[in-house]
Amino acid sequence: MGAAAKFTKILPALRRFSDFPLLLAFMIGLYLAAIERYVIFHSLLESALIAVTFSTFAFTWNARRLESGYLQLIGVACLPIGVCEVLHMLAYPGLTVFVDGNEANLAPQLWLAGRFVLVAAVGVASLLGGRPVRPGWAFAALSLLAGGLILSIFTGHFPRAFIAGEGLTRFKVLCEYAIAISLLLACLLLMVRDYRLPRSTRILLGTYYICAAATSLAFSSYFAMYDHANMLGHYILLLGTYAFYKAIVETGISRPFDLLFRELTEAIRARDEFLSIASHELKTPLTPIKLQLQGIQRLMLSDRLSSLSPAQLNRMLETSDRQINRLTHLVDNLLDVSRISAGKLQLQRETVDVTQLFREIVERHQGEIKTAKVVLDTPVPPVVLEADLIRLDQVITNLFTNALKYAPGSRVELGARREPDGSSLIWVQDSGPGVPRAHRRAIFDRFERVPGLTSASGLGLGLFISRQIVEAHGGQLRLADENGNGSRFEIRLPQQ
Ligand code: ADP
Repeated sequence: MGAAAKFTKILPALRRFSDFPLLLAFMIGLYLAAIERYVIFHSLLESALIAVTFSTFAFTWNARRLESGYLQLIGVACLPIGVCEVLHMLAYPGLTVFVDGNEANLAPQLWLAGRFVLVAAVGVASLLGGRPVRPGWAFAALSLLAGGLILSIFTGHFPRAFIAGEGLTRFKVLCEYAIAISLLLACLLLMVRDYRLPRSTRILLGTYYICAAATSLAFSSYFAMYDHANMLGHYILLLGTYAFYKAIVETGISRPFDLLFRELTEAIRARDEFLSIASHELKTPLTPIKLQLQGIQRLMLSDRLSSLSPAQLNRMLETSDRQINRLTHLVDNLLDVSRISAGKLQLQRETVDVTQLFREIVERHQGEIKTAKVVLDTPVPPVVLEADLIRLDQVITNLFTNALKYAPGSRVELGARREPDGSSLIWVQDSGPGVPRAHRRAIFDRFERVPGLTSASGLGLGLFISRQIVEAHGGQLRLADENGNGSRFEIRLPQQ
């Protein structure tokens, strides 16, 4: 790759950091201020950090419907952290806001309070592993923590952090070490797990954690509040906060708009695909019904209806009846999906003998069994459980007809047994082609089918509905791993 091509490739990434020279100029300005008076350096730098912290909170809060998870937790922590930082800045020796001669202790104590809130937020976010959080609750909990810490500091219940003439206390040093270790650990977890965050966001946030950990190490070694370790710590924190802002606001919060757009496009594509499959599926049974009716009408108009034997007429009616059943089944499935989506799936529990149910289902499908070899594994004593008979029938029927459809001519086993823990296990196993590994999860989703596996008709709704019904019973429906030897669907229902 030529130098020009390489440059064009990294240009967009560079553009994202186009404000870096401004930051550099600010850092130089800060140094000049520090030569004049250290408290000016500190106040200016802290003001910048506070501005970033508060605006990050504002962004996160306003985008809370878009982003829920890791970044949101860290984002809502910014307000309580910011409040600690404001108090820390005002308490800094030389500003004479809290004039009790104890500022050299007060400022690092308030700094620690802010870091504790940060570590709590990062810790919970890491433990939750990117799962959604309730922003209101998270904000309330972290604000309570910050409030408690600030109160304990101003009422003198917080351990001392700095003793004039002696330097930092053991407590402060140990706390800084613990904060640094926690942040480095969080950084490691951030790199190993993905927390559903894009790589660029994780790298930027990881940079912030490393900078914040380095700041804590620098803050564990200063003797006077104006020495070089203190200044270095503040500079590193400023750089880290720049990465933090980029991570949360620029790549973290604005990214969901891209994500939303992609999901929307995907949803429209899935809807169009579903409409074309659904209209095809609904139309297919209509053609034979129409043909049968037209045939009867033709015979009637030409006065030849009596030439049909009762057996021929019965066959024609049976064909139409089968197609009407198929149509009813498709429409029922669609109605079930909307019922499930609206949370209106209701169960009428009664005592069900599973073996008896198996027999009825097999009896009902004699016409479709044809080449399959159906085996009933009848447990002794019979498995009897409390369930919604019609819905359980629907689930087992779906698994059974799927076996007939997708594993034609194979051995199909229907079985049940009572487990030692009192739960019931029901299985439908076939010796057909099985479900490819890549599709084993997806087939339980709405409208999902294994592409190109079979020409058998279907809307990809049966397993979705079945799983919802089993879960409504408090149970689980899963596809057991059969290592390529057919499919084994297992329903586990808890003891009632
Ligand atoms: P449908 O049968 O209407 O397509 P389902 O939700 O019942 O919908 O099944 C989803 C997909 O799972 C099917 O399209 C098929 O690809 C696959 N599948 C289900 N059961 C089996 C089976 N016993 N063997 C192989 N593939 C199966």
